[in-house]
Amino acid sequence: MITDLSGVDDKMEANQTQAPINWTTASFLFGSLLVAIVGAPLYIWRYGVGWFDLGHFVAMVYATGLSITIGYHRLFTHRSFEAARPVRLLTLLFGAATFEAAALGWASEHRYHHRYTDRDGNPYDPHSIERGFFHAHMGWLLRYRVPELPRSNVEDLAKDPLVAWQDRWYLPIALGMGLALPTAVGAGYAAWQGTSIGVGALGGFLIAGCLRIVFVQHATFLINSLSHTIGRQPYDTSQSSRDSALVAVLTFGEGYHNFHHTFQADYRNGVRFWHWDPGKWIIWTLSKVGLTWDLRRTRSETILMAKIRQRRLRLEERVDAAQIDLPAQASVLLRDLDRRLDETYLRFRQLYSEYSKLAKDRLAERRERLGELREELRGVRRTLRELAREYRVTERRLLSGV
Ligand SMILES: [Zn+2]
Ligand SMILES: [Zn+2]
Repeated sequence: MITDLSGVDDKMEANQTQAPINWTTASFLFGSLLVAIVGAPLYIWRYGVGWFDLGHFVAMVYATGLSITIGYHRLFTHRSFEAARPVRLLTLLFGAATFEAAALGWASEHRYHHRYTDRDGNPYDPHSIERGFFHAHMGWLLRYRVPELPRSNVEDLAKDPLVAWQDRWYLPIALGMGLALPTAVGAGYAAWQGTSIGVGALGGFLIAGCLRIVFVQHATFLINSLSHTIGRQPYDTSQSSRDSALVAVLTFGEGYHNFHHTFQADYRNGVRFWHWDPGKWIIWTLSKVGLTWDLRRTRSETILMAKIRQRRLRLEERVDAAQIDLPAQASVLLRDLDRRLDETYLRFRQLYSEYSKLAKDRLAERRERLGELREELRGVRRTLRELAREYRVTERRLLSGV
């Protein structure tokens, strides 16, 4: 990820408690919430709800929610893959329909969130969980930022003509795609069915428009609040992000947030193939038809080592908390496994780097060496996995005796 923060003033203070209320955003957030929880149920009570309304709602939820996940987040903010113009255009159009800001500002704030996770000053994480659940969820949007965080961390993105275009025309695009489109679709369906066009238009506006906006916005907000509050931390405990399958279901796969914060350049959030992550499946499928490419994946050995390091830390914490000494023999055994794991991983990285360099070179005489390297890499990978398994078994055996 590109995060040039050269324009950030080191002396800036995040004094948001005294910052004035942003009435435009606050009115929109609470106004749309009111329309969604009062207007939509009233409409349903008066006119009922059919399969078309439900399908329209779900289609808009997925089109706009996935545009945030795939486009705003993984493509524009993290550059975790490259995408053809139609993919960029569609995610910009439907991303704006969520009324979560233009992609440029969204990406800038999210890059600050990653760079300064949990930090509350000099410069700051815009929705630091340290300031409480509500602040992380939506409270951060209710006041102006004092001082504003500079946009110097998205200069790379501003060069994309489509992103610049969406930034310039954000409001008309958001209104057109987010409210006018579902209203028109509702009216069009009613006209086709020969029922009241006005009622059809109102249904589209309230259910696939307002209710859907509130649903998708709060799904995004949950990533900043719930994904920094509940779940496991298998990869990194030094910051508050967490992995939760439950949150992943609610957020189009973004709930594996501890993995994402640790390996933010990876196009996947749910790293296992069964992890619920529609964003990952769509990006991968699009790569098969040439609409996305250069998908960035963290090597499984790097992920394995991150998990082992966290296990080491957790073991130390548990032993410290229980104020007990592991048997001397056990400590020696674990230390030895630690050392062998580190050495094997280092060897893996050296071999992999040599292999990657040689693989680019297509000269015939390199082929033999490439074959040797491939063989050696296979062996080192196997050793690394065996050592990791041995480490886990030894650790479990020791802890059961503690
Ligand atoms: Zn986060
Ligand atoms: Zn992110």
